[in-house]
Amino acid sequence: MTTLSTSWSRRSGWFDSTGREQRIKDYIELTRKLIWQRQATFLAATMLSAFYFDALRMVACYGLVLFSEVFDLMLSPAARKWTDDNPRTGRMLLIRITFNTVLSALAIGFFVIQLAVQQHTGGHFTPLFFLFAASLFAAMNNSQMIGILLLRLSIYSGAFMFITFYDVFRYQPPIYSRTWLEFFTSVFVLYFIADMSLAFYKQYQERLEQLKKVREENRRTKAAYEIKSQFLSTVSHELRTPLTSIKASLDLVNNGVLGEVPENLRPALAIAAKNSHRLANLIDDLLDLQKIEAGEMVFHFDKIDVAELVKEAVESTKSYADHLGIHVATVLPTQEMQMRGDHSRLIQVMHNLMSNALKFSREGGTVQVRVEARGPKVRISVQDEGVGIPENARDKVFGKFSQVDSSDIRKVGGTGLGMNITKQIVERHEGKVDYESKLGEGSTFYVEFDRLPEAAGDEDARNPVALTA
Ligand code: ADP
Repeated sequence: MTTLSTSWSRRSGWFDSTGREQRIKDYIELTRKLIWQRQATFLAATMLSAFYFDALRMVACYGLVLFSEVFDLMLSPAARKWTDDNPRTGRMLLIRITFNTVLSALAIGFFVIQLAVQQHTGGHFTPLFFLFAASLFAAMNNSQMIGILLLRLSIYSGAFMFITFYDVFRYQPPIYSRTWLEFFTSVFVLYFIADMSLAFYKQYQERLEQLKKVREENRRTKAAYEIKSQFLSTVSHELRTPLTSIKASLDLVNNGVLGEVPENLRPALAIAAKNSHRLANLIDDLLDLQKIEAGEMVFHFDKIDVAELVKEAVESTKSYADHLGIHVATVLPTQEMQMRGDHSRLIQVMHNLMSNALKFSREGGTVQVRVEARGPKVRISVQDEGVGIPENARDKVFGKFSQVDSSDIRKVGGTGLGMNITKQIVERHEGKVDYESKLGEGSTFYVEFDRLPEAAGDEDARNPVALTA
């Protein structure tokens, strides 16, 4: 394979082989994109010439050009699928591009020569101008493949030279005549086109270099990101096992299972237990985040009774709510509402919403959890009367490691990951999470999911009436 690629690379060395795949693809893609623009120009030139010159010959030349255009179009699908490690297709594409270029340049050259020979006097403004336009078009749009561009331009140059030299040959005029002036002007125009081609080629070359740099940068960022994720995952796993046993031991000691704890040790042990719980939460969040980002978080989708899910979540946060002195009210619909989802991940979502509502509430406040139908959706909302969220803080609420109040005087703890994880879990359920909030008055966070059809047409389900506290 290496020998094949090298020999292909050497053989195609007549055009710059750096970024070969990109060049060929860019060339074919641009040729395809500009097809209608070229067709309009060809058609206008043919109609104009057919009116003033021999119509049959003009239309025949146009037919030849059309033929090469169809050939060009046919290259597109093969080029899209092609990658540089398939040298056979690459060679085939290059041969066909070369063939098409020769065909279409000869057709255009022949077309303008036909015009020139039908004019009996000098001053071949029309054919020379057509040729100039075609050369400029090639210089601007074929700079991806310098060899192909040169091939086309040399055929055009041949036509240029032929048209002007034909008159010199036909009339053998003196050097100070208009015919010679026209000849020298053509040489000047050819130089101008070559200069333009070089400028466009350099521009394309720079773009290609930039693209290479961006790709390299992208590759490095990706590699660094993967290393970071791997590192995070290893560290978190290594921390979790010893931490679990520290946490369990501290809980045993604090609960008096291992015997009476001396009074003077209690505050220190309570702080140790609280912080070990915080650390464990942080590690769990980090592992979840890493799993989500690596696409490794597994979801087991099942039919879920939304009211049951909410009851379970409320029940499990009851002791935390009692500890903070906050009343939790639940508003459930009379009719059953079902959705598809991963039960434990949805419980995790509910925990995040509820623990935030509780921890940002003031003592004595109420948190209301409500389930209601919203058209074909079911909405679960968690409303608190807490500190609220200032406007334009959405990015902070749903960002990673970000908190609205991240100052040192912040009273409540947290990782700044919960809502980000929540959002990603909800999105994996094709649902949405959002909030409404007023600073100082409280917030309502809600998640919405598709309801399963059995419950979707149920009118009663839209009116939450049953209240449980
Ligand atoms: P944290 O671990 O800090 O709670 P989250 O990702 O769960 O992180 O939430 C991000 C931030 O969004 C919180 O730090 C807080 O500033 C804000 N926030 C979330 N829920 C509420 C709420 N119910 N009331 C006020 N602020 C909230």
